Parts: sequence; C-alpha cells; structure tokens
Amino acid sequence: MSIVKSSPSFRLERRPHELRFRTASLAARTWETSTYVRIRLTGEDLIGFDSAGSDDHMRLFFPDTLPEGRTELRSAPNREYTPLAWDGDAGWLDVEFAVHGDSGIAAPWAATAALGSTIAVGGPRGSMIVDGRPDAWFLAGDETAVPAMRRFAALMDPDAVGRILVEVADAAHELPVDAPPGVAVTPVHRGGALPGTALASALSALGPEDRPDGSVFGFIAAEQAIVRHGRALLLDRWELPAEQTVVKGYWKAGEAEYHAPH
Ligand SMILES: Cc1cc2nc3c(=O)[nH]c(=O)nc-3n(C[C@H](O)[C@H](O)[C@H](O)COP(=O)(O)OP(=O)(O)OC[C@H]3O[C@@H](n4cnc5c(N)ncnc54)[C@H](O)[C@@H]3O)c2cc1C
Repeated sequence: MSIVKSSPSFRLERRPHELRFRTASLAARTWETSTYVRIRLTGEDLIGFDSAGSDDHMRLFFPDTLPEGRTELRSAPNREYTPLAWDGDAGWLDVEFAVHGDSGIAAPWAATAALGSTIAVGGPRGSMIVDGRPDAWFLAGDETAVPAMRRFAALMDPDAVGRILVEVADAAHELPVDAPPGVAVTPVHRGGALPGTALASALSALGPEDRPDGSVFGFIAAEQAIVRHGRALLLDRWELPAEQTVVKGYWKAGEAEYHAPH
C-alpha cells in the first residue's frame, strides 16, 4: 500500500439548483424487505424532475400528517430523502424508505399511506458531482444510505474497484447493491445492537494497510455517531483529502427530524 499524493483522478463539484416545489401522489409501493420499502410517486409536477448527484437529497412534505384544519402543503411536516430513480419525461420518481418502527412521520407514511395520497417534493437544491474517475471507491452506510450507495454504484464503470459496506439488521434484511465485480459488497449485520455500532466496528477494523491505492472517493452515511468513526478512517488513517470525501449523519438516535449539517 502506498499513499499516492499526485494529482487526483477526480474531484467533487458542487452545483446549486433552483429550488422547485412539486406535488405528487403515491402510485405504488414495493416492499424489498419487511423493513424497507420503495414507493413510486407520480404527477404532472414531476415532469422535468432531475437529480444530478448520487447523494442528492430532497425534502418530502407529508400533508396527511398536518394537524386537523390545516391544509398548506409547505407547512406540512417534512423529512430528507434521496431520489433513487425518476423519469422527468413521464413524471415519476422512486424513493426508498427505511421503515424503522411506528415512530416518526415519513417512515409510517411510506409504510401505510393509501395509494393516491398527496405528497410534496422540494428540491434537490444542490448536487455534488463526481467529476472524473476515482481510482477506487469506498462506500459505507446503513439502510438510509442505500439509495445513495445504489446510485454511486451505478456510476462505476465495469473495471471499477472498491468496497461497499451495508449495515442491516441480519441476513433476512440484506439490501443488495449492484456493483461491478471489482467492488466487494459486504453486508454488516448489527443483530440487536444499536444502529451504527456494527458499521463503526467494521470501519475501526480497517487500518492504513487497507487503503486502496490512488485517488479514493469515500462516502459514509448512517446514524450520526458514525461521523467520528468515518472521519477517523478516511481522514486520519487513510489520509484522504476532506474535499474528496462525504461523511454524514443521516439521522440521529432519539431525535426526530434530525437536520444534518450540509
Ligand atoms: C441527506 C439525507 C438523505 C437521506 N435519504 C434517505 C433515504 O433515501 N431513505 C431513508 O430511509 N432515509 C433517508 N434519510 C434519513 C431520514 O431523513 C431519517 O431517517 C428521518 O429521520 C426519517 O424520518 P421519520 O419521520 O421516519 O422519523 P423522525 O420523526 O425523524 O424520527 C422519529 C424517531 O425515529 C428515529 N429514527 C429516524 N430514522 C431512523 C432510522 N433510519 N432507523 C432507526 N430509527 C430512526 C429517530 O431517532 C427518532 O427517535 C436521509 C437523511 C439525509 C440527511
């Protein structure tokens, strides 16, 4: 293993977008595991929808959950989600939800809202574009980061190399990420442990000798406590430049409507 400090093979470019607010309705629901659901939203407002960055996020507004007597969409409870797939000509958008229990607004809506229910979509208001070709990829996350990891994996060319770690509860809840043969996708089972702790252990087990050669793109997102472990690996032990990595808390245990710093 050698840490190559020549000019990087890629850079992360941030691109702002005009903020759009669209309404749509719930058209279909597909369960991938008993705790992970993909929904399809459709509507004329989704014509022209686009998402340039694999870890883009949009804000979904849930008007069904407004207090009685209130109807304004823009004041409805809202949460951040990743656009997984869409067709801006046909007007549909797919989103995947970790269904983490009965608490919260977004997950119960995704699990139980009647087909035809109204939802609103704000954004994405900015994108991070991988400009160039990383020499290697390192992605790690829990269920909430699976849509972003699936999108990053779709960017990889057939000769790409790297690793993807996906924390899920157990074998019955594994979520495949389709990646080229040179990219090892490894499920990390947490069993009954607190979310993120198994992924944190997997990251902590990686040392400087595990760093892939060349310019490595690193993306790590899960429960907020992962940030410390993610930075310790990517920035301290692997000495990746911060501007070539994304390490984010996507939610916080015990806190509703967590706002990740952007
Ligand atoms: C940039 C970004 C992109 C994201 N993309 C996705 C995505 O594509 N798919 C996705 O599923 N999530 C995604 N998330 C995470 C999602 O926004 C949060 O999980 C959100 O809190 C869920 O809202 P809720 O209304 O269901 O629960 P909240 O009302 O926010 O929280 C209620 C309770 O549930 C807990 N909780 C929240 N999320 C989880 C979880 N995943 N597991 C266990 N407990 C939880 C909270 O700690 C709280 O105690 C993303 C977050 C960010 C910042």
